[in-house]
Amino acid sequence: MRKRLLLFLALSMSAQASEQFGGVFFDTSVEQVQINALKKDLVYLYNTPQKHIDQDLLFLGGLKTGQGPELHNWMINRLKYIVGEDFDLTANTYMVKKPVVYPNTPLPLPKVKPKLPYANFKSANKVNSFVVMSNPSGGFYVQGKKKKRLLFTKLDGARAVISSPRVGLVQVGQGLFRDRDKLGKNTNAPGYAIYRLSTLIHEGRHTDGSGVDIGFRHDYCPLGHPFENTNACESAGNGPYTVGTLAKRQLLRNCTNCTTAEKTFLLSSIADGFSRLLRPDGGSNVVDLEKEIENHQMIYNTYEKHLGLSKIASEKAKITKELAGLQKKITTKKAQITALVSSPKRTQIINPTPEGYFKTISLKDSQLLMQRSLK
Ligand SMILES: [Zn+2]
Repeated sequence: MRKRLLLFLALSMSAQASEQFGGVFFDTSVEQVQINALKKDLVYLYNTPQKHIDQDLLFLGGLKTGQGPELHNWMINRLKYIVGEDFDLTANTYMVKKPVVYPNTPLPLPKVKPKLPYANFKSANKVNSFVVMSNPSGGFYVQGKKKKRLLFTKLDGARAVISSPRVGLVQVGQGLFRDRDKLGKNTNAPGYAIYRLSTLIHEGRHTDGSGVDIGFRHDYCPLGHPFENTNACESAGNGPYTVGTLAKRQLLRNCTNCTTAEKTFLLSSIADGFSRLLRPDGGSNVVDLEKEIENHQMIYNTYEKHLGLSKIASEKAKITKELAGLQKKITTKKAQITALVSSPKRTQIINPTPEGYFKTISLKDSQLLMQRSLK
């Protein structure tokens, strides 16, 4: 009897049901702790008053008010189905035999990987091997478009019909939820929520755009960039890195209970986001400036050592002058970084109108969905 009861308990515990919350469908493949965190995040996004509105976010994200309910609406029009890390997307995606008509727009071109002038060592920055999040919606849509057949993904209790990248099918991984070294263990902290939400917004942007620009796909980072030769940069002025990072900036500005550690983490993550935006004018970007500061600092440290050892007054005066000059350069470049981070230079703006067949959820409807879930 006891054995049977244990078996029953084990079965009922593993039989986790899929869930709908605030307009988002969570597949059974998403771990319950992850669903709980994402549900809280959606509520945070919806309910947190946004006193400071980021004008760049409004303009580049195509928003009107930038308030929580609108940000939530923006998101659920782009992210509708969430599956877990172990969900086999390929095995669960089917093609309908009957041909269908797709919009008569060109297919996206392959992205060109820059040729390295030296042996391609693995970048030191590529240490993060955790899956954070991915959005296969655009890729699946293009696959179907090429074959003129409709694809759909079978979830537990739902079917995601890929008639547009706006189907909003995304996969979340451990990387989105693991402890960030600098943030401490409390993954429910607002800093974490902002980090996850801006990642969701980044992924949401991948469902926009049409024709050659479908899905706002990433571009390869140029040589010399910390992510050189990796598909982790952006030449569009209103792509996923831009919109996701601007959302992070606004949410951080409106966070009244973020700790210093959370703020520091988010600020460096914002600088990282902006460093991925490619500027066609070849002007300094955050990464170049940081490298220059590092070089100045190295020279500064060497001079400083010399100053400590030197006993000749004229030499000391000379070194002191050099040190002051270097300090001035460092200060100027730091100010340039601050300016760049606070207002990234706008590059090419791409028409974000999505392709294919999809239904837009009105603001009123998304508010109803959220209010129903909050009851
Ligand atoms: Zn992306």
